[in-house]
Amino acid sequence: MMRAYVALGSNLGDSRQQLTDAMHALARLPHTRLLAHSHLYRTPPWGVHDQPDFLNAVVTLETSLSPHDLLDALLKIERAAGRERDDGRWGPRILDLDLLHITGITVNDERLTLPHPHIAERAFVLLPLHELASDLEIPGQGRVADLLRAVDTQGCELLA
Ligand code: ATP
Ligand code: MG
Ligand code: MG
Repeated sequence: MMRAYVALGSNLGDSRQQLTDAMHALARLPHTRLLAHSHLYRTPPWGVHDQPDFLNAVVTLETSLSPHDLLDALLKIERAAGRERDDGRWGPRILDLDLLHITGITVNDERLTLPHPHIAERAFVLLPLHELASDLEIPGQGRVADLLRAVDTQGCELLA
């Protein structure tokens, strides 16, 4: 069994419902248990600024799926939620599920990069990830608590 951290994001449609539904879908994956989930955060868009705010969260999974099978499962949940893949990277989306890290694993191929290369730059990932794994060391980037201290969290709001 491996521990995997997955980031969830949405800024189209009923984002709160999308994230809740996605957490349930992740909990139902084969050979997988959902161990914990963060609160939801409302965050400003990153990369492409002219779009609505996002809701974001992170979950911890325990899984024996391979990294690529887990990625395929995430992409399938995105598609089932109505995600259209012609919207360009970092643009508005109904649901984005990114594999942040699987403990003990690094991958670098055309389909999958692990750890996710942008964790250290993203308050919208680090705030929820810090709730679940503040001491986690992201190989090549640093410890989550240290990474969080180094980013600008202004404009990010913890939702009740
Ligand atoms: P970013 O990954 O910078 O947040 P994005 O989420 O907007 O950008 P997508 O359009 O959702 O990017 O994904 C494009 C492709 O990225 C996916 O089809 C997948 O093959 C690839 N990919 C590579 N590494 C990862 C990863 N760690 N998690 C999710 N997708 C990944
Ligand atoms: Mg993403
Ligand atoms: Mg993605």
